[in-house]
Amino acid sequence: MKILEVSGLQKNYKDINAVKGIDFSVNKGEFVALLGPNGAGKSTTINILCTLLKPTAGEVSYEGFEIGKDDENIRKKIGIVFQDNVMDNKLSVRENLLTRGILYHNDRKILKVKVDNIISTLKINDYETQYYGELSGGQRRRVDIARALLHSPEILFLDEPTTGLDPSTRKLIWETMETLQKEGLTIILT
Ligand code: ADP
Ligand code: MG
Repeated sequence: MKILEVSGLQKNYKDINAVKGIDFSVNKGEFVALLGPNGAGKSTTINILCTLLKPTAGEVSYEGFEIGKDDENIRKKIGIVFQDNVMDNKLSVRENLLTRGILYHNDRKILKVKVDNIISTLKINDYETQYYGELSGGQRRRVDIARALLHSPEILFLDEPTTGLDPSTRKLIWETMETLQKEGLTIILT
């Protein structure tokens, strides 16, 4: 079943034609990679799909919800992992997840269960009490993924999640994404 449909998507930045009219669809539970060299328009495409940037032309719909019209509903369905770290360096991993999670779960008991589950799925138990700012790149990336899952999205977007990581850490991140896919998440990455 299609969870995402993209047609005729274009984005111009002044005279730069960053996305040149692309069409594709993604089925529920799929693991999709958008490939292309630097400057190909991957980040621009992801930002549009995530409702963060307006397209110049084209349509994007998530099971009937269209970007530009139903952005609030779409944002509930998607999680996003950016390349830049977005957590608080001076809080522990667990504190970071709790303070983010409270935005979505106002019942503390439910929030705690949610955070515990995510911590164990992503295997970040070993360093959950460490400061985010003191983690290695790979550990940080896994916490970033955990953060993106706090509102239980159906689709996870990741923009170059393993760039800059060493080979063994890359492998770990890939394994993490495979686990998430097995749990039913649709994964779209660059
Ligand atoms: P990729 O992620 O595949 O490396 P990008 O989507 O970042 O590609 O960029 C696609 C093209 O759009 C590039 O030529 C880039 O220089 C240009 N571009 C990206 N963001 C902006 C922006 N905010 N303003 C102007 N040009 C941009
Ligand atoms: Mg990019």
